[in-house]
Amino acid sequence: MQERGNVMVFIEHRDGMPAEVSLELLSKARELAAALGVGVEAAVLGAGDGYDPGSLGRYGCERVVLVQHPGLERFTSVPYAKTLTQVIQRYEPQVVLFGATTTGRDVAPRVASELQCGLTADCTDLQIGEHKAKGTVYTNVLLQIRPAFGGNIVATIVSPDSRPSMATVREGVMPRRELDSWQPAQVVKEDIDLGEGDVLTEILDVVHKEKAVDMKKAKIIVSAGMGAADPQSLEAVHELAAALGGVVGASRPVVDAGIVPKEHQVGQTGTTVRPNLYIACGISGQIQHRAGMSESKRIVAINTDPAAPIFDIAHYGIVGDVKQVIQHMIKAYKDKE
Ligand SMILES: Cc1cc2nc3c(=O)[nH]c(=O)nc-3n(C[C@H](O)[C@H](O)[C@H](O)COP(=O)(O)OP(=O)(O)OC[C@H]3O[C@@H](n4cnc5c(N)ncnc54)[C@H](O)[C@@H]3O)c2cc1C
Repeated sequence: MQERGNVMVFIEHRDGMPAEVSLELLSKARELAAALGVGVEAAVLGAGDGYDPGSLGRYGCERVVLVQHPGLERFTSVPYAKTLTQVIQRYEPQVVLFGATTTGRDVAPRVASELQCGLTADCTDLQIGEHKAKGTVYTNVLLQIRPAFGGNIVATIVSPDSRPSMATVREGVMPRRELDSWQPAQVVKEDIDLGEGDVLTEILDVVHKEKAVDMKKAKIIVSAGMGAADPQSLEAVHELAAALGGVVGASRPVVDAGIVPKEHQVGQTGTTVRPNLYIACGISGQIQHRAGMSESKRIVAINTDPAAPIFDIAHYGIVGDVKQVIQHMIKAYKDKE
């Protein structure tokens, strides 16, 4: 582990525990750090009562910079941004990663602005590579990859002249990988200069909105596209999901039309899912939908159009009408039981 120039992840907390997205980012950070030949460190602010920060070693974190202060117990913009800025100035990581959550989207731009460094929002991939510009070759640059221009192109963004390179990444995009054998991370406590004038917001209460459906945790998803948006087809989709013990997903136009609630949307602007089985019913398979489900373990696609792009990534493709195919599937499944 180097003293400077590591890959740092900002650990966000939910109910005193590290958020999923932070653990996913630690897993990605491990990959980036290996390419750079440096270490992985985490910035843990305020909480840490519910767990041992050293346990982040399970995800490849080697050092935790822990800052505890009454003004950091719950997230508020100014104290968090100020603390994180100071942590980054002291430890000088070359890459800093945040979840593209409400918290990450609030704090990361404040820190980037304070440090005058580059920040790319909503990355879908991160790599270490080379960048050539105006006769200069930059090596070991963070390549920040994300859809741009309404998802019509995939852009690679670099900020080679400023340090650190900072990026936010959406939840569920990077797979979370625990190490089989791991060592507890070294925990370094830091005092940060945070005065009363920095803590301007008092949080009186936190109200949690219960999720109607947790798409990320679903093992089986049966998704409806515009080819399955009529009442009978949609009923068949619900029936199949119930028969298999799965949940219903949807493409964006189905959600936009108010047919299925937004929490069920899969894709670039919905949820990224990786179930064991994804059944795409009447979904054409545009890039923005595929971005949210292409890493499913098994993909079954049902579509009347044999040339639909969804068949390019499907493990099993069925050309036919959704209603008829689903009825056969349910019958076959029930007969087998
Ligand atoms: C910035 C941006 C973000 C986006 N984000 C998302 C996102 O998060 N998720 C998402 O899904 N989309 C997203 N989109 C929209 C995306 O580009 C596509 O428009 C959308 O995925 C298409 O949805 P669909 O496949 O349901 O509909 P369509 O493209 O209309 O496809 C319907 C399919 O159903 C088939 N079909 C018709 N009738 C039947 C039948 N009876 N039985 C079987 N098959 C039938 C047709 O052959 C066709 O392939 C985004 C777009 C943009 C620009």
